[in-house]
Amino acid sequence: MIHDPISAARDTLERVWGHADFRGLQASVVAEVLAGRDVLAVLPTGGGKSVCYQIPALIRPGLGLVISPLIALMTDQVEALKQQGVRAARLDSGLSLDERSGVLRAARSGDLDLLYVSPEGLQSGALLDRLADLPLALIAIDEAHCVSQWGHDFRPDYRTLGRLGQLFPGVPRIAVTATADARTRDDILASLHLDGAAVFVDSFARPNLQLSAVRKESASRAKTDAHVIELVRARKGQSGVVYCGSRDGCERVADALKSAGTNAIAYHAGMAGPERDRRLERFLAEDGAVMVATIAFGMGVDKADVRFVIHADPPGSLEAYWQEIGRAGRDGEPADGITLYGPSDIAWTLRRLEGRPMDEAVKAVQTRKARQLFAMLDGATCRAQAVRRYFGETDADVCGVCDICQDPPALHDATVAAQKALAAVQRLGGRYGRGRIVDHLTGKTKDAQPWETGLSTWGIGKDIAPTGWRDVLDHLMFEGLLVEDPNEGKPLVMLGDPERIRAVYRGETRVEVRRTPPGFDASSRSGNPRTRTRNDRNAAVEALDADVRARFEALRAWRRDRAAE
Ligand code: ADP
Ligand code: MG
Ligand code: ZN
Repeated sequence: MIHDPISAARDTLERVWGHADFRGLQASVVAEVLAGRDVLAVLPTGGGKSVCYQIPALIRPGLGLVISPLIALMTDQVEALKQQGVRAARLDSGLSLDERSGVLRAARSGDLDLLYVSPEGLQSGALLDRLADLPLALIAIDEAHCVSQWGHDFRPDYRTLGRLGQLFPGVPRIAVTATADARTRDDILASLHLDGAAVFVDSFARPNLQLSAVRKESASRAKTDAHVIELVRARKGQSGVVYCGSRDGCERVADALKSAGTNAIAYHAGMAGPERDRRLERFLAEDGAVMVATIAFGMGVDKADVRFVIHADPPGSLEAYWQEIGRAGRDGEPADGITLYGPSDIAWTLRRLEGRPMDEAVKAVQTRKARQLFAMLDGATCRAQAVRRYFGETDADVCGVCDICQDPPALHDATVAAQKALAAVQRLGGRYGRGRIVDHLTGKTKDAQPWETGLSTWGIGKDIAPTGWRDVLDHLMFEGLLVEDPNEGKPLVMLGDPERIRAVYRGETRVEVRRTPPGFDASSRSGNPRTRTRNDRNAAVEALDADVRARFEALRAWRRDRAAE
């Protein structure tokens, strides 16, 4: 009888996990791994990355070795697997010597299907020696963005995983992550030596998420706290996560929410491990629990009915934003992602990056990522579309439900400014960073050489203040018209997507900024900025899955009732 491998995989999915069928790119990923090939899979949070390596590990002969960055994550997954009758174990620093040898014995005698280890655990030569002559079904690297300094959660220990290919030749390796832009993907492939791996990138669309960003009215913490409390109280009884930028802030907001009658639970890395575990268990078990947490919380947490994620302080990049917001609505039902942000936040983010002991080139990239996030938050592009474009989905449509789609802000036409900036970057040959480009545009370069003052772009931007130009450049980078590439630590600005640049030059694509950049002259405002966005929005609303729309309506009605109570 001919038995195709993917139907065997489907049987396993049904038998062990009780899921009727694969979804998204799962089947393709599983098929590659079953065929013994290397894979990098970028699938959304909650997309079901785990089964992509668990199932092939069960089907292929030998032990599946899984590398996972957090003990809590490993414990969760191993416990869940055991309950499903899968022979899984973990090796981490929490085990006694006896337990360790027990696990290794089981691995050696073929009594294990999946073995979870931390990257530090793998450093020990002893473990590698013991694994060396075992037949391995595959090696899975979970949360693979941790390998890249360009990612948002770099773990130095992950760097050493590049050796695995040499140590275990012929064993297929599968790296999975929810968030990796093109550069991070390349870095993962290079760092892990996954030459020739099949790369799968699923759509980042999450149509059930209603995204919004709200500018903080002031830098006052008390006002921000009050705003967060108001947002949470309007969602009484719902389970949610509030992200704070600091441990202090986390404790403060949790206390304030508790006083306001919410079942709030603080969670941050300053707490002892067992205490954090208890708090996580409460969050998973109790109705209407609100986790008030730093970024220490969340990786791999699988709670389906989180109805909102609120950022009391914004995250550091669009990757982090999407991963954190993505913890809402994993059940596919409508959920909110609300981000509060203000000018003091970007300053704080950049200052903090500045103070970090890291490679200058990495710092430059992190800085750019932070700027891009803020450009999105303060921008006028559909939130979901902006994020998906950032991840390389050039054809992403507007979502129809975010704050921008629902109520498009007035926009200011910056097309002419954009043309000037693009021309300047082109004339300067991509040799300079943003500061020098702004100086060039405003004709203020110190000791400018004749070759520069002779360029047609010299001083063509005197009508706009330097801060206004920086806004325009940020915006152009966000739109991909310009790209910033670190070069020996000094980020150089270069021309981006040539197609779109041509369209801007020809005036076919307008460039619009939401805020009037300082120094922008009122006459540069566009006549009727709303019209186009409204039409886009209507089209998107039409296109929205009727099902999702109905659920949004139901949720809104439910909220109105709650509010009226
Ligand atoms: P992530 O991609 O974020 O690591 P997980 O692997 O934790 O996601 O899976 C999230 C949830 O989705 C789990 O509860 C898992 O059992 C479930 N899941 C995975 N694949 C499927 C599927 N094909 N059909 C239905 N549910 C699935
Ligand atoms: Mg996962
Ligand atoms: Zn939208």
